[in-house]
Amino acid sequence: MTHAFDKDLEDRLVRYAAIDTQSDEDAPGAPSTAIQLVLLRLLETELTEMGASNVELTDYGVVLATIPGTAEGPTVGFLAHVDTAPQFNATGVKPRVVRGYNGGEITFPDNPDLVLSPTDFPYLATKQGHDIVTASGTTLLGADDKAGVAIIMTAAEHLLAHPEIPHGPIRIAFTPDEEIGRGVSPRLPKDLGADFAYTFDGGKVGEIEFETFSADAAEVTVTGVSIHPGFAKDKMVNAIHLAAKIIQTLPHVTMTPETTDGVDGFIHATDMVGGSSEMKLRFILRDFEREGLAAKGALLQQVCDAVAATEPRATITCEIRPQYRNMRYWLEKDMTPVDLANEACRKIGLAPVSVPIRGGTDGSRLTEMGVPTPNLFTGMQNIHGPLEWISVQDMAVATELCLTLSELAAKPA
Ligand SMILES: [Zn+2]
Repeated sequence: MTHAFDKDLEDRLVRYAAIDTQSDEDAPGAPSTAIQLVLLRLLETELTEMGASNVELTDYGVVLATIPGTAEGPTVGFLAHVDTAPQFNATGVKPRVVRGYNGGEITFPDNPDLVLSPTDFPYLATKQGHDIVTASGTTLLGADDKAGVAIIMTAAEHLLAHPEIPHGPIRIAFTPDEEIGRGVSPRLPKDLGADFAYTFDGGKVGEIEFETFSADAAEVTVTGVSIHPGFAKDKMVNAIHLAAKIIQTLPHVTMTPETTDGVDGFIHATDMVGGSSEMKLRFILRDFEREGLAAKGALLQQVCDAVAATEPRATITCEIRPQYRNMRYWLEKDMTPVDLANEACRKIGLAPVSVPIRGGTDGSRLTEMGVPTPNLFTGMQNIHGPLEWISVQDMAVATELCLTLSELAAKPA
């Protein structure tokens, strides 16, 4: 059966999106920004009011809660992140709803030049008659991932109000700082206490993701020889020239984010800072396979060695550190969480689709830490920018998925 969740979902998304929760990668602490606590505390209160158990806001900024089981079954976790992306203005979000979308262009009250067109975004063309939520033109919307929060809250309220629905114990986690890769505290897997979990942080209806990039970060330090330029002949070694040589020697027309898609990985130079005596180059390395990722690290090391060989007086070091791994490595050993999600999708009349994510999720880290956590659709589109939008009816389908999944995961009596 389908439920009338639209109004509740819309109200929640609009309420949560108006609260600025932008994270900040340069700020230490968890959460990275105190403003995230405003939404976290609100969710803590709302969960308590709807009758959830064990509601707490941990000292590392995660809201946890339990929906006690009404049947035997594994403990299933549902997660969403409260922070919004640092890449675009997220202050003063004014969500507005285009009711009964007519299939035409959507314009924005605060930015007359901005147009959301179904021609540019064919998925929008399929949403005629839906209620579409956008921001007002100068900010992102933050459906990423407040749609996920709204979906889980709406499903939780429904399950708590209907104890006749059979489901095992459910754990809920709302995390901060996902957008800066710091959403999963080392303490989260144990505190969550789920056998497996799902993040509601995906896009189009039907998408169930269990493949992500594997990711490393690299920092190259070039140390030259510093000396007064007036007396530098045959003595100075300028780190800037060597750093430029490294960049110049790395692939440009292949293996960069702007020249790859699908299942191809890349080496992406993110920062180049310093001066003539010392330069730091930062990179992110991405590939779906461990071997491909290792090869990219080896290539970067090789380039550094080759440039170092041209100038023995300089020192060039290359440090590579792991970030996250493709969750498929763990999930393929036990596909139960993925199979359940696929089955739940089909049960509500959808054909599930799995596309590898060219990025990571909180689920990648959690999976690696022992809690298998595929990613499920919410409906969110054009995230991290002013054209972000979501259909309320898509969110309602995701809420049905959450409920169906909760029932399916319970062992038959
Ligand atoms: Zn997200």
